[in-house]
Amino acid sequence: MADYDIIVVGGGGAGLAAATVASEGGARVLVVEAAARTGGSTALSGGVFWAGGTSLQREAGVADPGADAMFAYYMTLNQYKLDAPLVRRLCDDAAPSFEWLRGLGVEFYEDDLYVSGVDKVRRGHRAAGMGAAITDALEGSFAGRGVDVALETRVERLLIEQGRVAGIIVDGEPVRAPAVVLATGGFGASPEKLAMLYPDAAQHGDLHWYIGAPTCRGDGIDLGGQAGAVLSPRNKGLLLLTPGFANDLESYLPGWLMLVSEEGRRFIDETIEYSVLASIVNQLPRKECYAIFDEQARLASRTTAYRPAPSWTAERLAQSVVDGTLLRADTLDDLGRMLDLPAGALATAADRMSEAAAAGSDAEYFKPAAMLRPVVDPPFYAARIRAAIVCWTGVGLRIDVEARVLGSDGRPIPGLFAAGETAGGMAGDCYAAGGASILNAIVFGRIAGASAAAYALEGERG
Ligand SMILES: Cc1cc2nc3c(=O)[nH]c(=O)nc-3n(C[C@H](O)[C@H](O)[C@H](O)COP(=O)(O)OP(=O)(O)OC[C@H]3O[C@@H](n4cnc5c(N)ncnc54)[C@H](O)[C@@H]3O)c2cc1C
Repeated sequence: MADYDIIVVGGGGAGLAAATVASEGGARVLVVEAAARTGGSTALSGGVFWAGGTSLQREAGVADPGADAMFAYYMTLNQYKLDAPLVRRLCDDAAPSFEWLRGLGVEFYEDDLYVSGVDKVRRGHRAAGMGAAITDALEGSFAGRGVDVALETRVERLLIEQGRVAGIIVDGEPVRAPAVVLATGGFGASPEKLAMLYPDAAQHGDLHWYIGAPTCRGDGIDLGGQAGAVLSPRNKGLLLLTPGFANDLESYLPGWLMLVSEEGRRFIDETIEYSVLASIVNQLPRKECYAIFDEQARLASRTTAYRPAPSWTAERLAQSVVDGTLLRADTLDDLGRMLDLPAGALATAADRMSEAAAAGSDAEYFKPAAMLRPVVDPPFYAARIRAAIVCWTGVGLRIDVEARVLGSDGRPIPGLFAAGETAGGMAGDCYAAGGASILNAIVFGRIAGASAAAYALEGERG
């Protein structure tokens, strides 16, 4: 006799959603969580959920064709190099999953409905109370149901019998269930896995840091591997740009900076979307660019509540010079030499930027006029900008549209399901939009819960 019908490994957004759905149908569910409390990175997050065709959009008067348009946007942005059926399911289930969260009591307001990513439509739904409100509502739904939660229990072994996943092994003891859902989040807290699976995230050595839960070490990948699971393509995820002054979470660089490449020339409108900018910087030969500004810009620099950027206040910049993380020179030529840029290139770029600021028009990259700043007043400054803040990892276990984990033969591994960051296939070179990861966790968490329950309770043996 099994101890449970379903064991969910990991109690973040995906795991809690899976447990909620599985227990709705009467399944006995055990959620095993490595940390001292549930929530994972989902609870730390901004709680933005990306969806089209929702009730909130209708209430706000936003016209959105919904799933078809989301799918076209998501796939086009990533040049169709994704697992299309998974993305299709993600988009199809986005609005129903949003309404489901609303039905569980998560509050969303029209004022917090915004255009996220390089999307055209207001599809970023920010939960009041952010990510913690989502995980609290999910866990709140367990009341009166057959869900046990075991905290501070890191699962490191699956129980596999006759080619089927039959539970987990904890402290050397088996805990039996015919279906196991792996929802252990990403692997940002594992330097080894970053180096192996997401080399772009690890390439700057000690500079990189992870913003998610410290327990997200990619254990689900190892657990899936014990059962013969295979992985989605490597080197995917979301990185943010940082000057490396301190471990501050800043999604955006200030738009007024002048960014130059190893040629000492501008290469971009500095205000473009963060996910696009980070991937372009990673394609530069040195995998870094340089933020150039003058003393007037430093003195005027401050952070805002709208887009917090604590690295870029006048005082912090002065301190960063002392710390040696921000370069300062009396001339642009000296600054260019310190950065090993071609002689004279920086002065030319600065002249052009100053002319654009004076004219109120950027003929090179068409940056908005309000963000054009002259670069004329010494001393001059340069910060090395690298994509080294690891937000989200996009390499995971291959699954099908029913969240069944696939083996090397492309067939489902009996009894094994995965969801959220643990599952791969939906990440391309460009993060689709703020809210796409919680969308993924909730949509595939729900699917995994339903599939696992069907498998366990109806005796399906896929
Ligand atoms: C600061 C921050 C802001 C973000 N903002 C947004 C946003 O606004 N919108 C958006 O879409 N995305 C956002 N993200 C990303 C998003 O939150 C995550 O990608 C998503 O929530 C992951 O959900 P998950 O359930 O897969 O993983 P998690 O929520 O991380 O849950 C995984 C759980 O598994 C547990 N676990 C790990 N290993 C084991 C093990 N061996 N045994 C037992 N338990 C284990 C972990 O402790 C954790 O609780 C943000 C992330 C961060 C960190």
